[in-house]
Amino acid sequence: MTDAAPGRDRAIAFIGLGRMGLPMASRLVDAGLAVHGADLSAAARFAFAAYSGMAFRTAADAALGATVVITMLPDGAAVREALLGPGGAVAALAPGALAIDMSSCAPTDTRLLAADLAALGVALVDAPVSGGVRRAADGSLAIMAGGEAAAVERARPLLELMGKSVFPTGRVGSGHACKALNNYVSAAGLQAACEALLVAEAFGVAPDVLVDVLNASTGRNNSTEVKLKPFILSGRFDSGFALALMAKDVGIAARLAEELEVPAEGAERAAALWAAAAEALGSTADHTEIHRYLAALRRP
Ligand code: NAD
Repeated sequence: MTDAAPGRDRAIAFIGLGRMGLPMASRLVDAGLAVHGADLSAAARFAFAAYSGMAFRTAADAALGATVVITMLPDGAAVREALLGPGGAVAALAPGALAIDMSSCAPTDTRLLAADLAALGVALVDAPVSGGVRRAADGSLAIMAGGEAAAVERARPLLELMGKSVFPTGRVGSGHACKALNNYVSAAGLQAACEALLVAEAFGVAPDVLVDVLNASTGRNNSTEVKLKPFILSGRFDSGFALALMAKDVGIAARLAEELEVPAEGAERAAALWAAAAEALGSTADHTEIHRYLAALRRP
């Protein structure tokens, strides 16, 4: 333990100890903070308890007396439930506590949640992350933080234990907007790369040759660099980011464009494709299995 965290908030409730939450919460433990984790899953609680010794069944138990609650949950419905539902964290927090939602959620829902929390004296910062499980483990996530400037600055010492870069993005909800838009761009890049692989293969070009070409050319993107060979061509499909979560994020981006009346045909089409893939492959599929889904569309 390095006891490196500055700031006044040292008693932290961390709700959601899944693929991302476990390594993120573990970094706060490593910094010497008192982190009380909670998760619906016994396996997730066990994994965190083995690391820190403090894991609870309910968010309220984890939040008792904490000055900060961090959520890292699948979506906005789970976040609202964990904060304000039965056994929720907010009722148990210390006065003047701060909520930091690091999940990827719909920004308009986040604004409604922020208003509900503000009525209870709790400020909300939406601070979703990009970088995946590997960067969660080494503390190099990109973090986009929406909220009142004072609340973002209060959150910053904790965020900097989990991320390499913290971007204040503006009003509450703006972090979630940036995250959904980022994942739309990321999903579109992955979809394009997978389609290119399938076309190349059909034309007799070896897939690994196309990947090398893309990565030395202007078609290069994050997916061509860090996903195609390690997770798709290898047949591993185990990046640690669920296809259903990517479908959720692309859907959020498409709905945001629609709500704002900004034409975004690419986002609409991507949302439909990823939703159909999630429906076909189920909740356990990794997002890199979009390649398998696209390949199956071709074969009768
Ligand atoms: P995950 O499914 O591995 O973990 C979610 C955890 O939340 C599970 O352990 C589940 O049991 C728990 N949970 C669900 N509802 C709960 C509730 N009401 N109370 C307590 N616990 C509850 O998901 P993940 O991959 O860790 O993703 C978490 C969030 O981070 C999602 O919003 C996702 O979109 C986002 N995200 C994921 C990645 C990635 O690479 N996996 C990267 C960036 C952002």
